[in-house]
Amino acid sequence: MAIIQKKTVSDVDVREKRVLVRVDFNVPQDAQGRPTDDSRLVASLPTIKYLLEKKARVVLMSHLGRPKGKPNPKYRMDPVAARLQELLGYPVTKLDGCVEDDVVTKARQAAERSVVLLENLRFYPNEEAGDPKFAAGLARHGELFVNDAFGAAHRAHASVSGVAQFLPAVAGLLMEKEITFLSKVLHAPEHPYVAILGGAKVSDKLGVIRNLAKSADKLLIGGAMAFTFLKAKGLGTGKSLVEEDRVDEVRQYLKDLGAKLVLPVDFVTAPSGDGNVRTRVVKAEEIPADEMGLDIGPASRELFAKALVGARMVVWNGPMGKFEISDFVAGTESVAQTIAGLKATTVVGGGDSVAALTKLDLVNRVTHVSTGGGASLEFLEGIELPGIKVLQNR
Ligand code: ADP
Ligand code: MG
Repeated sequence: MAIIQKKTVSDVDVREKRVLVRVDFNVPQDAQGRPTDDSRLVASLPTIKYLLEKKARVVLMSHLGRPKGKPNPKYRMDPVAARLQELLGYPVTKLDGCVEDDVVTKARQAAERSVVLLENLRFYPNEEAGDPKFAAGLARHGELFVNDAFGAAHRAHASVSGVAQFLPAVAGLLMEKEITFLSKVLHAPEHPYVAILGGAKVSDKLGVIRNLAKSADKLLIGGAMAFTFLKAKGLGTGKSLVEEDRVDEVRQYLKDLGAKLVLPVDFVTAPSGDGNVRTRVVKAEEIPADEMGLDIGPASRELFAKALVGARMVVWNGPMGKFEISDFVAGTESVAQTIAGLKATTVVGGGDSVAALTKLDLVNRVTHVSTGGGASLEFLEGIELPGIKVLQNR
């Protein structure tokens, strides 16, 4: 398969058009519903500004939280609209519905050089059900549909893929960037190419491991999922997190991937993962029965750093340990620092890996940080995402 080529806002005529844009404003909120992290709002600005410069009439739509198909004051879009207005520097008009006649009328009356934000899409059960009637209702807001919500692209929801049945559909600039880098990782990597996988559950990431193994030269495995690999090799894992029902499958991976696979050789262990407990460093063969592995150890940090020397391309998904607790952050920090120092195309995906990068203030030192957790995983597994599939090809 070649690099995926989709039309974007800059490939079509948007001048003075009414443009309906799906954005990902599913931001973390404080008790008053105000966003506590602006990164998703900031990431949407290039597309919105581009459209406003072309005098397009912009109608934005997003989901927020999990209101489960019912209006819920906690998840109204008003605080998001207020924050967006500050960041954007143009007026943002928040409307109290999505598809109702008066909402459509008000959206059309919006002033030039302003944008409209619809109410939370998930106040309607039809959104997640992918109801075509609801999608047609949304489509009344535009002459063109722009999908810039990469984080929602793996959902076949009305506002993600449904609307494209009624309007010409193209990618926004953020979506374009995601597709470009992630499809480069899969279909046009530069070698040597190293993939680093970690995180909590091996079952979440076996598909990614299998798919990346097709093109990567090395796969480094850390995080809790390393223990299912250890178990499959017949080693003791103490109280570490192991997915028993995946051990046989992982044993097959060990056979198939052979020398490409690099596993940790030591770990930081503790009696529990709570922090403020005595920790020790043990060899992979010597995890005590009453302790759990919570981070990769110093020898593994060195092993992984060496495996990354000279890499031209790196993809990283999943922390190396329970990084939220300072006793167990060293492995994740070491991988992050090593990647940040490379002269390579570096792509980082996954909610917690990106949180770790942010905490270490290294976001600007990697080539691309994927904004979608589930969406980037499914993309890396090789699944064609519904929200990308429906976009016009170049
Ligand atoms: P991402 O969001 O980057 O894809 P995951 O959601 O798969 O990552 O995994 C992140 C979680 O895994 C974190 O909460 C982290 O604490 C946990 N984790 C990583 N290694 C371990 C470990 N050895 N023991 C327990 N939890 C771990
Ligand atoms: Mg996660």
